[in-house]
Order: sequence, then structure tokens, then C-alpha cells
Amino acid sequence: MSITLSDQAHAGIHGLHTYVPGKPIEDLKRELGLTSIVKLASNENPFGTAPAVKRALAAFASEGGNDLHRYPDGNGFALKHKLAERHDIEMSRITLGNGSNDVLELTARVFLGPGKNAVFSQYAFAVYPIVARAVNAETRVVPALGAEADMPYGHDLDGFLEHIDENTGVVFIASPNNPTGTWLAPGAIEAFMDAVPAGVVVVLDEAYLEYQADSERPNSRAWLERYPNLIVTRTFSKIYGMAGLRVGYALSSAEVADLINRVRQPFNVNIVAMHCAEAALADDDFVVYSTETNAVQRASLSQELEARGLACLPSQANFITFDCGRASTPLFDAMLREGVIVRPLASYEMPEHLRVTVGSEEENRIFLTALDAVLAGA
Ligand code: PMP
Repeated sequence: MSITLSDQAHAGIHGLHTYVPGKPIEDLKRELGLTSIVKLASNENPFGTAPAVKRALAAFASEGGNDLHRYPDGNGFALKHKLAERHDIEMSRITLGNGSNDVLELTARVFLGPGKNAVFSQYAFAVYPIVARAVNAETRVVPALGAEADMPYGHDLDGFLEHIDENTGVVFIASPNNPTGTWLAPGAIEAFMDAVPAGVVVVLDEAYLEYQADSERPNSRAWLERYPNLIVTRTFSKIYGMAGLRVGYALSSAEVADLINRVRQPFNVNIVAMHCAEAALADDDFVVYSTETNAVQRASLSQELEARGLACLPSQANFITFDCGRASTPLFDAMLREGVIVRPLASYEMPEHLRVTVGSEEENRIFLTALDAVLAGA
């Protein structure tokens, strides 16, 4: 094909590879001749979607289905109103996204570009380099903390400061971080925000915040008053089990939200997803159940893995990353043949680690049985 990219697009897009998502479960079942598959690969909620969301969806289908020929509210007033109450923040400081990935991309489009750089950690979320390079920004990867650190493979915030310069547009930090599960102490984030130049936008990605122990959770809402350059991102994908519906959002200063909204597609979040997200916010029982079960299952899963001599990274997320002590992709393939999908981390340059989503008790048992079978044959 002879499509020519502009010189600038050339530079950024040539450095990227298309993100390869996992195959749909039904396709895998057919391919592998299996009747059931346990999917613990994408940090989804093992308990499905919040019941309040399912009820809202059913009601919408019977009553609100009549509105599907209309565009959604491009300002997302109703959902923003509920989020504003939830976070005690002005609606003008909320930006809605088609998943929080969308908000990350919008942020890159506003604050990055040729001549600018984005700073993030080694072993950080795969979307940060994609959104930065897509707008031809330089990416600066900060070496992660060493395997021997208190928070092995975690973010080195002092290292971040060394990589930031006058051309830094955005810094991405995630706590808890994917794919490591590691987290940052609130005091460390605060000290970092104090040290970062005021003109640098810092994205604090809190996709997994709800899974953190209360005692470790930062009060990022309060920081938004002190740091106008802070953007906090959240998602409905994980704790509310709405990954398939795609809703995320950012909290920031009104000035930053205004800039992001200027480049946002007018109807980036669909009408059904917004309706469901509103319902989700009322389902505290599901949140409590999901977080409490996750904490119990996460502890027992990591104990089981450690008992097998497989060292786990500390995690406060809904997944555990562990060291297989050998190339993990063949283990991933073998697990797949046993009907269990996990995530090999070779693409994250952690070729001997696997990431497993914390499932239900039953799913975790199936995972461990498959793992034992695979390790016995390895
Ligand atoms: N941030 C992190 C750290 C993630 O792991 C994910 C999901 N994999 C996201 C953001 C994006 O989630 P979503 O677009 O579904 O809101």
C-alpha cells in the first residue's frame, strides 16, 4: 500500500504495535475443544456487573429504548451531577470518557505533541506509550524500583523527577499500578506533587483504587484543591463490572477540564453506558462485596502461589503478578489448553512473570489446579 504518513506521524506511529486483545472466550472454546474457560486475564470483576446496572439496563431496554435514535447528552449532565455529589466537586471539573483510556488519550492530545515528552514508569500501563507516541511526543521511561526494593517493580518517584524537564507535558503515575499491582504511599505522591513543576500535568490513574485497603488509599480528591496540574482518572470498568460498557472519567481543575473538553468528541460516551453508570453509583453493596471478597481471595491466592515457590509482587489491585522463574509464555499457552486464561507479561518486558486476575473462590481453585498440572508437566 502506498499511503504516506506525515513525517511527524511517521515518527510516532512507526514505533507502535497494534494492541492485541485476548480472543473472545467462545472462539477459544471452539479452537481448543473446551466446554468451559475461566478467564483471569483482563482484571475484570469476577462477579459480573453490579446488579443495579443490570436492573437499569433492563428498565432502559423496556422504557428508554425509545430514546436510542437520539444522541446522548453530550455534556453528560445527569452522570456528572451524580459524580459531582459523590466526590463533592463542581461538575465543571469532571470529564467523561469512553473508558478511562479515552480520558488518557484526550489528555495526551491536549498536553503532548511534537517536542513534548511524557514521563512514566517501566512496567506501566501499555496505553501511556500509545497515547503519547500517537501524538508524536517523546516517551521517557523511568526505571522501576529493583526486585529487592520494598515495593519491587514499583514506581520510583525520585527517578521520575530526574526525567522531567521543561519539555515534559504529562507524567503518568498509577496507584495501584497495572501490570504490577504495586502502589504508592499517599505521602510519597504528595511529596512528588510538591516537587513537580506547576506547568507539568500529572495524571494519577486510579483505575484500581477501590481495591486498596482503606488505610493505604490516598485522598486524591483533597489534592485536587492544592494541585491545579493534577488529573485523577477513575473507571467503571473494574469495581462496577462495566468494562464492556466503557465509562471512565477524570477529576481535575476546571481549567484543565475545559481544555480537555475542547478536543473531546461531543458524544464520546453512549446513552446506555451513561444510564448504567448512574445506576452503578447507587450500588454500594456490590462495591463492598467485590472489594471485600477480592481482598480475601487475593490474600489466599498469593499464599497459594508463594507456597508453590512462586514469588508474588505486593498487590493492592484485583490481580496478582508472580514470578514463574522461567519463560512465562509457554506456561500461559499450557494453561490455556487447561481452560484457564491468564496474562503473560513478555510485552511488558517481564518475560518470566504471569499476571492473574483474582477470581471467585471457585475460579481461583480451577486456576491453581491448572497451574499445578502445567508445572508438573513443565
Ligand atoms: N488504567 C489502568 C492502570 C488500567 O489497567 C486500565 C484497564 N486495563 C485502564 C486505565 C483503563 O480502563 P478503562 O478504559 O476500561 O476505564
